[in-house]
Amino acid sequence: MSVFHDEIEIEDFEYDEETEIYYYPCPCGDRFEITKEDLMNGEDVATCPSCSLMLKVIYDIDDFMSGEEFETVPPTKVKLAKA
Ligand SMILES: [Zn+2]
Repeated sequence: MSVFHDEIEIEDFEYDEETEIYYYPCPCGDRFEITKEDLMNGEDVATCPSCSLMLKVIYDIDDFMSGEEFETVPPTKVKLAKA
């Protein structure tokens, strides 16, 4: 079970803020999906619900682990991209 269809960076996924799921188009017409929670848990495999393809997600887990807070507050942009 280690055959990946492709490796895609998380930046290329489409993020649904309501469901907190990242999507990426699958060749079968459906979409690969992986939840933000999965990413925070170190999961890096997005799966398509309609076929058996898998996608390896390239991301930095530090971007998804805030470290201290586990409250259910809406996600804010905590990126250090301010120059
Ligand atoms: Zn598919």
